[in-house]
Amino acid sequence: MVAKPSKGMVTDMAASPDHPLHGGCLCGAVRYELSAEPHDLYHCHCSICRKCQGALYPAYASVVRSGFVVTQGADRLSTFDSSAELHRHFCSSCGSHVYGEMEGDPDTISFSVGTLDDGADPGGRQGKERHIFWGSRMGWYEPSDGLPSVDEF
Ligand SMILES: [Zn+2]
Ligand SMILES: [Zn+2]
Repeated sequence: MVAKPSKGMVTDMAASPDHPLHGGCLCGAVRYELSAEPHDLYHCHCSICRKCQGALYPAYASVVRSGFVVTQGADRLSTFDSSAELHRHFCSSCGSHVYGEMEGDPDTISFSVGTLDDGADPGGRQGKERHIFWGSRMGWYEPSDGLPSVDEF
């Protein structure tokens, strides 16, 4: 018996090969499947992510590469290297930032949590959910979720 997720409650099952989560870009051209539970989850306040996503502080989850598969529209992805180390992949039609890859960490995919369908909970907390690059946050909005904050990654 699977409980239906209700708004505001963390009831989603962790992603696994038997229970994958799905996501994609705004226009639907790019689709992916998440078949492993992420091992990290963070909210980034750096100025690059802010511009990149047009959001105050986007959330990302990191997952082993084999657990994240682009199932549709791989040829529609464009890449922007926001630094020599970070390759950000976008839908070339609608602009959604779907996921990124770090140079030197080929086994990890970090995806934009907001691209999961229906606001699915990505999991991946393991007690580490946090705000990163806190010192770069916009001064006029103060998150009050009680999560720890760090000035680096
Ligand atoms: Zn799109
Ligand atoms: Zn960032």
